[in-house]
Amino acid sequence: MNDFIFKENELYCEDVPVRKIASEVGTPLYLYSLATLKRHFNVFDESSKALNSIVCYSVKANSNISLLHFLFKMGWGADIVSGGELFRAIKAGVDTRKVVYSGVGKTESEIEFALEADILMFNAESLSEVFLIDRTAGRLNKKARISFRVNPDVDPKTHPYISTGLKKNKFGINIKQAVQAYETAAKLPNIDIVGLDCHIGSQLTEISPFNDALKIIKELLFKIIAKGMDIKYLDLGGGLGITYENEMPPHPSTYINSVKKILEGYKGQVIFEPGRLIVGNSGILVAKVVYNKNTGSKNFIITDGGMNDLIRPALYEAYHEIVPVLKREGPRLKVDIVGPICESADFFGKDRVLNPVEEGDFIAVFSAGAYGFSMSSNYNSRPRAAEALVDKDKFYIIRKRETYEDLIDKEIIVNP
Ligand SMILES: *Cc1c(COP(=O)(O)O)cnc(C)c1O
Repeated sequence: MNDFIFKENELYCEDVPVRKIASEVGTPLYLYSLATLKRHFNVFDESSKALNSIVCYSVKANSNISLLHFLFKMGWGADIVSGGELFRAIKAGVDTRKVVYSGVGKTESEIEFALEADILMFNAESLSEVFLIDRTAGRLNKKARISFRVNPDVDPKTHPYISTGLKKNKFGINIKQAVQAYETAAKLPNIDIVGLDCHIGSQLTEISPFNDALKIIKELLFKIIAKGMDIKYLDLGGGLGITYENEMPPHPSTYINSVKKILEGYKGQVIFEPGRLIVGNSGILVAKVVYNKNTGSKNFIITDGGMNDLIRPALYEAYHEIVPVLKREGPRLKVDIVGPICESADFFGKDRVLNPVEEGDFIAVFSAGAYGFSMSSNYNSRPRAAEALVDKDKFYIIRKRETYEDLIDKEIIVNP
């Protein structure tokens, strides 16, 4: 986070005062540091070279096409979960032969789009899906490269809403049915089996669930290779956690070296799908203090940013560090930092002890680069925030603030 730092009493993003950008662009505002993004890219990219691997950035973490463009330009591919993400990735210049497609509910038109784009492989999550991919490929006179996403039934020890590799989760196929699924798929005329895939969850802060899952997957890998399947790609998903508060997640090189050790003897390529790790701490959400409010029992800072802009606290009870952009002298106060939305879950932080803020000041919500803007909505008819990217002493608007007109742009009044 050293690109978001205080110089004297003022928060900077690289060489630009956050206050300057927020005053010019308005709030709420997502602000990204290119230096941080580059650093995270480099750490993972360097670490991944320990193995013969392809890195497919998980587009859903932050799908702004400017950030995507940077990562694709540096040679990474994309992990997508919808036709819309494929469209974005193509617009941002992805090499479609480095695109893997995850998700339990791929529709026929999405499958068709991905086949036309000639993506690297579909990470299929059910046999029904493989049957549909086979029929669609046949109709288009194409062959579809697939892997099965296998659910190893390992507890990732993360928030239940972002755990995906337990047998009660909807994701992947049951590991006990995997061999049979591969044998069935191998008989289909338009399917080319090329991979095996696994993704057990997000914001993992320990290495042991990764290792446990990989050992289980490895056993299956060699079993299906022995059955004659040509597994060129072993996709290990994403999920490495980041520091929001005081978590100490494993370093990417620790993780990748342990993958390398466990995979001894595997000749194919490994695919990684990092998301949060790359963008999470590259971005902050800046909001303006609209009111200071004291209800007699509690102090509230009410900002012009809300849960529609950043839903993680409401959805996962996620912790985000919050600081006033301008550090003022005075007694620190225990406050809840909340938004204007008509929901009690509309908060960014509770019972935080902050330096005093005045109405009109800005606050920064840290670690908001992943699952921030990409999960934002228009709830309460709030135009979505602007996004800006800082590079040293310059900043660029990479998504304009939505307008009121945008809110009703697709709507039609009828008088039946
Ligand atoms: C969300 C997701 C990722 C990225 O997860 P992070 O925790 O952001 O690294 C990777 N692969 C799949 C299949 C996903 O659903």
